[in-house]
Amino acid sequence: MKSAILTLNKAALLHNIQRIRELAPHSKICSIIKANGYGQTIPYLVNTLKDKVDAFGVARISEAVKIRQLDHNVTVLLLEGFFNEIELLQAINKNLDTVIHNFDQLKMIENLQKINNIIPLEFINIWIKIDTGMHRLGFQPEEVDEVFQRLKNCSFIKEIYFVSHFSCADDPKNNYSEKQITCFEKTTKNYTNQRSMAASGGILYWKKSHYDWIRPGIIQHGISPNEHPITELGFKPTMTLSTTLIAVRNHKAGNPTGYGNHWISEKDTKLGVVAIGYGDGYPRNAPLGTPVWINGRKVPIVGRVSMDMLTVDLGIDSTDKMGDKVILWGEELLIEEVAQAIGVINYELVTQITPRVEIEYS
Ligand SMILES: *Cc1c(COP(=O)(O)O)cnc(C)c1O
Repeated sequence: MKSAILTLNKAALLHNIQRIRELAPHSKICSIIKANGYGQTIPYLVNTLKDKVDAFGVARISEAVKIRQLDHNVTVLLLEGFFNEIELLQAINKNLDTVIHNFDQLKMIENLQKINNIIPLEFINIWIKIDTGMHRLGFQPEEVDEVFQRLKNCSFIKEIYFVSHFSCADDPKNNYSEKQITCFEKTTKNYTNQRSMAASGGILYWKKSHYDWIRPGIIQHGISPNEHPITELGFKPTMTLSTTLIAVRNHKAGNPTGYGNHWISEKDTKLGVVAIGYGDGYPRNAPLGTPVWINGRKVPIVGRVSMDMLTVDLGIDSTDKMGDKVILWGEELLIEEVAQAIGVINYELVTQITPRVEIEYS
């Protein structure tokens, strides 16, 4: 009998990559595996995908170094670039591609040109981030020509790419994405350099934005960037979070269960105690009624989620028993439904799984 397990389905992952290729047949794939690979570990994703994708993208240099240790050749992109000079030197030494999004980073690169004149540096590829409307990171469109020219003067830079990011791409009805596409195209129209704009939302809903490189994150795992499941679009959930029922209790009407007596039963029932809690990354704020899957049906969470356990109302006639499997999300119970019930986004659920949860592969 096992407690909380995250089961990763390799065939489903490879299927989803294939599906992404079908959606964007002319684009190269930069597989985004930041935040511990959306909770699935970087080594597993790199080893499974390195021959299937064209690059990996991460948010921190520590994540990029992990990938480089696993593979010497694969392209690794730092999505937010280096945060200081030391990281820039590390990026050059480890042969990482890096985004630059501000003039501080540009100056750090230009300062290295002086060193390069004495001791030639390794070559590096730079992705110029353009702020086309998200207003979080990136150069303003009117700054891009200057940035490009200044990079051209640094002889250790090999390729220059253009990159931008959508703020509303997960909403197919929001035409703000059109505005961002127009801005990106206008800003880059005098260049033949490779371009990238689409993450999961752009890949699914904004075909015009596919360009040379797409950057899929969450859809690789068969999970939607919004609340609408993407199983209808031919994706398969790759992750199952499951655990076991560790007790079935007869419970009298009028009695509470769990911390704070948060819920009181209206009728006699049987309660199931499930071995997973917020110490495993299952949200403590999951409200009463959040669904859990046991023996072919959904049952509601009752009482507060505690650190190692949660309780469900199995119903008076239930035949579930200690040791039975409980699924928190997976193919049977889609993560989109669970996230909606809890009032969080799918991304939060997967990235909050803690190291106590064992990983298995199927
Ligand atoms: C996280 C991230 C992605 C991937 O996002 P998904 O919505 O998971 O596909 C792509 N590009 C950038 C810049 C990101 O930060």
